[in-house]
Amino acid sequence: METKEKPCLAIVVPCYNEELVLEQTTACLLAVLESMQQIISEDSRILYVNDGSADSTWDIIERLHSQNGRIAGVNLSGNCGHQNALMAGLSTAIRFADLTVTIDADLQDDETVIKDMVNLALEGNDIVYGVRSSRTTDTWFKRTTAQAFYRLMARMGVKTVYNHADYRLMSRRAVEALLRYGERNLFLRGLVPLLGYSTAQVEYARKERQAGESKYPLSKMISFAFDGITSFSMSLVHMVFWLGILFLLIAVGITIWVVACLIQQKAITGWSSLILSIWFCSGCILIGLGIVGEYIGKIYMEVKRRPRYNIKDERL
Ligand code: UDP
Ligand code: MG
Repeated sequence: METKEKPCLAIVVPCYNEELVLEQTTACLLAVLESMQQIISEDSRILYVNDGSADSTWDIIERLHSQNGRIAGVNLSGNCGHQNALMAGLSTAIRFADLTVTIDADLQDDETVIKDMVNLALEGNDIVYGVRSSRTTDTWFKRTTAQAFYRLMARMGVKTVYNHADYRLMSRRAVEALLRYGERNLFLRGLVPLLGYSTAQVEYARKERQAGESKYPLSKMISFAFDGITSFSMSLVHMVFWLGILFLLIAVGITIWVVACLIQQKAITGWSSLILSIWFCSGCILIGLGIVGEYIGKIYMEVKRRPRYNIKDERL
């Protein structure tokens, strides 16, 4: 941060049918802003993004805005999903803010560590990840599936921060860099580590949802995980290719077996030709699919038009 003045902070909160938690969330976040008076500017705001809620979420945001100038809102025309709502919020926030923090409306992520995040940003970090130190308040099911997901992502070669969801601070230039990634299938947890700016982490204990219910049922979680893997990793295609190689090796093994049987004159007529062609042809088909997949993958990476680099410092 080069600015000598106190930076302006925007706390971006996506909301989908969150009427039950908004009042309380607002009170907590205003208290956080209040506690940071010394380090952030007076223009700092809470920015709610209404993601096409079917309940009175937007009416509440409008009312809160009219009561308090520190509360702002963006109303999306329909339900665009959590990740798109975050992008909408971030692109609006950098019109006035130097620092942005994204946090869920249910405040399951401890809002009091925002202050630590801002301090780390003032020390020169562009991205500060909120990392869950314990998940004891999540249900057993949510905890296990989530952790399996992080492990799977790592296995597939997708760079993510373990136990970090979408609770993070980003500087203006980090958000600007992020907005240059034009892809539609958004998986922010995979994109942000690609930005490459200096990062830091803060740990917190995850709380229980205050009210309302989770907007991420199992089906949504699975499709989100699949999106994450297929948007960042070609490992599924590689697997197909190597499966083809394995099939060919099996075919070679069977050939040796068949020859041995022939020598011992124990061969069963018709069996070898049938079995061999099945393994050999399947192997060839899988290898072919793997190669075609590799080309499609290249096209896929091209059409995303991701920026090739982000500049961190310049000495001209
Ligand atoms: N959310 C959203 N659009 C959606 C689904 C969720 O903006 O289509 C928001 C939701 O209001 C909340 C955040 O995304 O602020 C995370 O959702 P939730 O807390 O239900 O997920 P969980 O914590 O159970 O994973
Ligand atoms: Mg939640």
